[in-house]
Amino acid sequence: MKAPKLLMTPGPTIVPKRILKALSKPIMHHRTPEFQEIVRNSCERLKKIYKTQNDVFILASSGTGAMEAALANVIQPGDKVVSAVSGIFSERLRDIALTFGADVTTIDFEWGTPIDVEKVKQALTSETKVLTAVHNETSTGVKNNIAALGSLVKNTNTLFAVDTISSLAGDDIRTDEWNIDLNISGSQKCFMLPPGLAFISVSPKAWNAIENNKNKKTFYFNLLKYREKFPDNPWTSAISLIYGLEESLNTIEQEGLENRVKRHYDTAKYCRKKAKKLGLELFPKPEESCSITLTSIKKPEGIDVEMLRKKINQEHNIMVAGGQAKLKGEIFRIGHMGIVGRKEVSKTLKVLEQCLGEMGFKK
Ligand SMILES: *Cc1c(COP(=O)(O)O)cnc(C)c1O
Repeated sequence: MKAPKLLMTPGPTIVPKRILKALSKPIMHHRTPEFQEIVRNSCERLKKIYKTQNDVFILASSGTGAMEAALANVIQPGDKVVSAVSGIFSERLRDIALTFGADVTTIDFEWGTPIDVEKVKQALTSETKVLTAVHNETSTGVKNNIAALGSLVKNTNTLFAVDTISSLAGDDIRTDEWNIDLNISGSQKCFMLPPGLAFISVSPKAWNAIENNKNKKTFYFNLLKYREKFPDNPWTSAISLIYGLEESLNTIEQEGLENRVKRHYDTAKYCRKKAKKLGLELFPKPEESCSITLTSIKKPEGIDVEMLRKKINQEHNIMVAGGQAKLKGEIFRIGHMGIVGRKEVSKTLKVLEQCLGEMGFKK
């Protein structure tokens, strides 16, 4: 059999063998105490990764489902929402708020730069119902200062909805310390699972808004139903993926969360250093704002990025990601999250160096 492709993309990421094995266990019925014990236990373990005392739920959807759940449950038409936008995923949160009828103020930041907390502060008023932001903006490779944004909404009526889809279980995420009311994540990034599960934490402040929202425009994602049934699920659970989640949590706990975060920091630092050595320029500015779960690199002078990616993929069986939307052809992105570490990054950068040389790149 052909060797599996080395997935160096910022999601989906490589699923370790032990998790693949757990995914193939025989199906248990989901309305049994045995299965519900797995769910209850998994949510408790997720809370440790989230660093929260808040409720955590598992949804059967891709990450976007949890983004939608967060906003659909709290927003009523006309509610004021402030969205900090600096890439595809922060734009998506804004668009979901618009879909549910919010009166949205968008604070735009140049893609590739972090959110300027002062500008967001100026946009917030006592009327702001929700502030939305992305911790790790996967489309640009920038990590935002969620702690500072969270301190703006502390002791106010504003809810803070944050997407940590590509950083939770890789980076150090402090849901409670950072005042995050709705913290959204997903399975196919740092959790090393296939796509199909999303996670969400809900604070007492968010529950208050949800209970008082008489205009909820959601059925599947109605969080009150999830709370009422827990640890049972209102609908059929994604049973196999939850077996996978158990094994993912075992893997994470065996490594230790703090060790895991440190490993991601070390890998990211190594990747940036090596890339710069090849004569490449990092896309995020300043470098301190670089993500630790992916490295985003500017189009090398005189090189067609899409041709470069194709060459790496076809000739070396390694997949790196390109730029999305307006960044297509302008950047490429190397994912290093979950099980992917220094060894895989090193291999990828060697191949990158060779391919750039063959394409005539001079540093
Ligand atoms: C991957 C990703 C998403 C989207 O998740 P889907 O699973 O594709 O729905 C959202 N936000 C961020 C930051 C991501 O990296």
